Amino acid sequence: MQAWRYMGPHRPLERQEIERPQPGPGEVVVRVQAAGVCHSDLHVLDGIAPFPIPMTLGHEGAGTVEALGTGVTEPAVGQLVALYGPNACGDCRFCRAGDENLCIVGPALGLGADGSYAEFVRCRARSAIPVPRGVGAASAAVATDAVLTPYHALATVAALRPGESAVIIGLGGLGMNAVQIARLLGATVVAVDIAAEKLVQARTAGAHETLDSRDDAAVAALAARLPDLVADFVGIDATVTLAQRLVRPGGRVVLVGLGEATGTLMTFRYGAQQIAALGSFWGTSGELRAVLDLMARGDLRPQVATAPLEEVNDVLEHLRRGTVEGRIALLPPGRD
Ligand code: NAD
Ligand code: ZN
Repeated sequence: MQAWRYMGPHRPLERQEIERPQPGPGEVVVRVQAAGVCHSDLHVLDGIAPFPIPMTLGHEGAGTVEALGTGVTEPAVGQLVALYGPNACGDCRFCRAGDENLCIVGPALGLGADGSYAEFVRCRARSAIPVPRGVGAASAAVATDAVLTPYHALATVAALRPGESAVIIGLGGLGMNAVQIARLLGATVVAVDIAAEKLVQARTAGAHETLDSRDDAAVAALAARLPDLVADFVGIDATVTLAQRLVRPGGRVVLVGLGEATGTLMTFRYGAQQIAALGSFWGTSGELRAVLDLMARGDLRPQVATAPLEEVNDVLEHLRRGTVEGRIALLPPGRD
């Protein structure tokens, strides 16, 4: 089968013909129908952390169940499933505590184990989550991270409540869905980016207001209105600092972006004004089921465009330039 593989930092993904995976006990093999392209892939290519070489990239996958390993009775062959990327074991200390997103066994699909930039992918049967009727493969693929991650960050970690004010920084694949999710949770939403067209799209996604983060006067005016929650979907020093500047005393900052390894901590805002900084990583399989249901009901509508899998390196460059609207899902040969 065809697979696009990580061959080390600062190298394009390489197209390889490799053996189709076979399901081991408790596993399934899924025929990939769509795979979302996440900014985290760029961090992998930039060498953010060591990963196996070669490794098929792609941690936002959806497809139809092709084969069941021994002991597996569901999901049924042919069922459309969304792939729960952390590929959690269900049995480690973190899984048992309900924090499957922090599973130390995994390995995560496309971030340790071979992922979905291929024709087939293997995962634990418990990671193959049935997709409700009405949700297509491309949307199901982006649900697994670009929707799940902001949902976990806003609904669970930050516990955003109706009537609160939320600022969303970084209106890319994740942030644009964060705008919709914050609205759904009943918040007043200010959307922040540096790209004018992203601000226009955020209005369509439901933002009440938008802000160019380089407009210092507007930033000061927003801070004066005391936002309850600021969510950073960029994660560079400039945005982490911006988040700490904006949030009200006693408010919370939730950090999702992984743009830079370190950022400035504004100590006085913590020690003198009791702000809280919360980290957030991916989400649980229960939350993935919840976002798929919200999508099936039409309450969440992630923006997703498609491109052939063969164009993966071009799509990654497009994402690096900041010119992707919402998310792009790659379609393997025969699915486009
Ligand atoms: P993306 O490339 O689709 O979007 C990034 C957005 O940030 C773009 O709209 C860009 O214009 C904007 N931006 C860049 N610099 C900015 C600045 N200085 N101020 C305001 N906006 C700015 O990226 P994505 O796929 O949505 O991922 C966003 C980040 O989240 C990445 O760092 C990714 O690695 C990380 N991520 C984290 C998790 C997690 O679980 N914590 C999961 C997935 C992705
Ligand atoms: Zn991701």
